[in-house]
Formats: sequence, C-alpha cells, structure tokens
Amino acid sequence: MHEFSLAQSVHETILAVAHENNAARIEKIVLKFGMFALVQEDQFRFCFDLIKKDSKMTATSKLEIIRTPGELQCEKCQFQGKISEYPQEHNELAPIFQCPACKSYSTTIISGTETIIDSIVI
Ligand SMILES: [Zn+2]
Repeated sequence: MHEFSLAQSVHETILAVAHENNAARIEKIVLKFGMFALVQEDQFRFCFDLIKKDSKMTATSKLEIIRTPGELQCEKCQFQGKISEYPQEHNELAPIFQCPACKSYSTTIISGTETIIDSIVI
C-alpha cells in the first residue's frame, strides 16, 4: 500500500528531526501534498495514526495536510498554469488532466506531485 510506506517514511524522517533537536514530543506536523501527488488523504491519515500511536514522540501529534495547487502545460493550446481543482473523474493509477482552457487531455504535469514535510512543531 503506497500510503502506508509513505506514512512510514514521513514518520521516520520526523523522528530523525526530533532526535536532532532533542525533542521529547512533537506537537504538530504539517505536510504539503501537491495536488497531483497520488496520495489518498484519508488513507494516509489512517496509516499515519496506526504508525504514530506506538511512538512516544508522535502519539499525540496533530497532523495537518495542506494540498498545494498543481501546474499543467497543454500541448494543444500551450496553456500553462495552475489548476486548483482536482478533477472528479480520473484514473487513480494513471491520472490524465484536462486543460482548463481548451479541454484537451494532451497535458503534461509541471509541478504538484511533491509530498513535503513543511514544518514540525516541537
Ligand atoms: Zn489547452
């Protein structure tokens, strides 16, 4: 499960940062997921809760997830820009995004696939 391994690696990174800063407990974790990052937020939260409940460091941490907009380029009309709404109809495994200007599906993702640990509050 993709969400589980992502949650695990995020958790490991957070623990490493906490250690470096001699933290006893982490209050809050803020993550940024790009709009095109193929992460189901509910599933991620579920997995993260499972992982953190056995950790002294993060058991009571609050998790905040911010979805950041993604940027597309259209090959038909050369539109390039941010789209802020995730399309309702898409294939989870190989999503294709529609150009908001000309409705073409010949689009390339420029940004918005990142999953970033934005900040950790100790
Ligand atoms: Zn277009």
